[in-house]
Amino acid sequence: MPVLLREKTIVARKAHHCDTCEATAISAGESYSRQTYVYDGRVYDWIQCDSCRAIAALVFTWMEDWYDEGISRDDYMEWAREHRDHPLHGEAARAYLARASGESQ
Ligand SMILES: [Zn+2]
Repeated sequence: MPVLLREKTIVARKAHHCDTCEATAISAGESYSRQTYVYDGRVYDWIQCDSCRAIAALVFTWMEDWYDEGISRDDYMEWAREHRDHPLHGEAARAYLARASGESQ
C-alpha cells in the first residue's frame, strides 16, 4: 500500500484542484493538505482541500482492509453516495457530492 512520507498543511498562493473532489476547491489564501506518498517506486503528491481532508479518516475506516491499493477519488464518491443520508456523516457526504458535482455522474 502507499506509504505516507510526509504531510504538510500549506496556505495556497494560487488556486489548486483538490485531488479528491476535483473541484477548484482551494483558492489562494486558503489552507490545504499536501501529502507525499511513495508507492510502487513512485513518489507523488496528493492535494486535498480541508473539507476532503476532514472526511479522509471516515473513508479509510469504511474501506477497512480494502485500501491496500490506496484510496482513489472513486472510493470517496462511493462513500459519499452511501452516506448521504447518514445521521452523523450525511452532511459531509452531501457536501462532498456537491463539490464533485461538476463531474459526470
Ligand atoms: Zn476536496
